[in-house]
Amino acid sequence: LSEEQQVLDILRKTGAILEKGHFKLVSGNHSEGYVHVRLALAHSECASTLSNKLASQFRDDKIDAVVGYTIGGAILAENVARYLGARSVVAELKGTKLILGKGYEIKENENVLVVDDVLRPPSGEPIHQAIEAIRSSTKGIVKGVGVIVDRSTAEYDFGVKTVKLARIDFKVWSPETCPLCRQGVPAVDLSSPDTDPLGLVYSLSDEPDRMALVTMLGKIFEKLEERKLLEEIMSFYRPTFELPGWKYERVAILGSYDTFSIMDHIARIVSGLGFYSITSRVIYEKDTLERKELRPYKYEAMNDFLRKMIHSCQYVIIIYSGAGGQFIETAWCSESHKPTLGLVPLRPLSFLDLKGCEYLFFGKQDTVLFCNGFKGVEQGAELVGGWICDKHKNCPFPSSGLTKMILDLYATSRTMFLVGADELKNFKSPISTFLRNRGVLKTTDIR
Ligand SMILES: [Zn+2]
Repeated sequence: LSEEQQVLDILRKTGAILEKGHFKLVSGNHSEGYVHVRLALAHSECASTLSNKLASQFRDDKIDAVVGYTIGGAILAENVARYLGARSVVAELKGTKLILGKGYEIKENENVLVVDDVLRPPSGEPIHQAIEAIRSSTKGIVKGVGVIVDRSTAEYDFGVKTVKLARIDFKVWSPETCPLCRQGVPAVDLSSPDTDPLGLVYSLSDEPDRMALVTMLGKIFEKLEERKLLEEIMSFYRPTFELPGWKYERVAILGSYDTFSIMDHIARIVSGLGFYSITSRVIYEKDTLERKELRPYKYEAMNDFLRKMIHSCQYVIIIYSGAGGQFIETAWCSESHKPTLGLVPLRPLSFLDLKGCEYLFFGKQDTVLFCNGFKGVEQGAELVGGWICDKHKNCPFPSSGLTKMILDLYATSRTMFLVGADELKNFKSPISTFLRNRGVLKTTDIR
């Protein structure tokens, strides 16, 4: 395989290339495809391979600092810097200004490499802006530009050494001549350069639109490599494992050693609701609750396995127990806009005095506690997590071991919800409510 074929292979394998869809591009034109390189970068081994390929082209350029100013770019910057023995610099491009993350710097006369996952059409304007911003606001020397995918549709010249690993061309039409519009295929609107097609689904307030998008994206993914990917994972962990119906919706259930029994219990509930439920140890068949053990895993492979699980399932349930636990899994869910339900087992709630907090309220049975504030509380111009809002001193959520970082992820995500309950049986209601609210639960009879 050529270098470029290897890169395209990785992108296809991880579902990063949406080839048979219908997208409204920033330019106003319509396209049949979209590349979402971050889905490939979400796999640590893919991120390493792609970064090493980029780094190898800059070995002789004495790079001191690698700058990434998008999420994909930041992941690349970390990895490329590692391969070059350089420092990574995580930044944000706001208009024409490059704001370096706290603690990052570009020193005088340092050789700088700018990396991004995609060179955006028409001619990579954000890269031009980043280079300009580095020149005007630091004393670093821009030595090169490295991107994974070149999607330019017009000539470009950054005036420095530029390396791209792969080129992808999709058919593009004006809205008037778009054959997909004529066929009535619903389109995903990517009118903002930051729009994430998966996140977009859940940001639409209009329910019919949302469902049309969900259905369409579901069809796209079914045709793509997602199913194969999951089969591949499962065959790796359990060579004899076979499941006939991967087309059903899957729920990944994550926890830790001390919550295995709760995970198991929840896996059964979820299967009973008509989903495949997958924990790192067990898969429960849809409806029949038939239990299939996964082969015992090697610990060092666990992180990759969990990441693949999150990527391959449509919904995630995380059970929190100890302080600081499940942060990285929560971050992956947040990063990929994965619909996620966080469950916090709390001590008996009936003893709590919650008077004075306008956000906390009990469910019907007084044993499930909800917080309305978790969607964020405005403090001046900032949105902070409701559960760290100091509205009530006795709020049980922070004291249950959830870190501020985890609470913040829930507070700022539109697809993640957090619920606390003090008895196992009371998890049924939050789970079914969550799945019903996502529009995927048809079962009305909750056992
Ligand atoms: Zn169209």
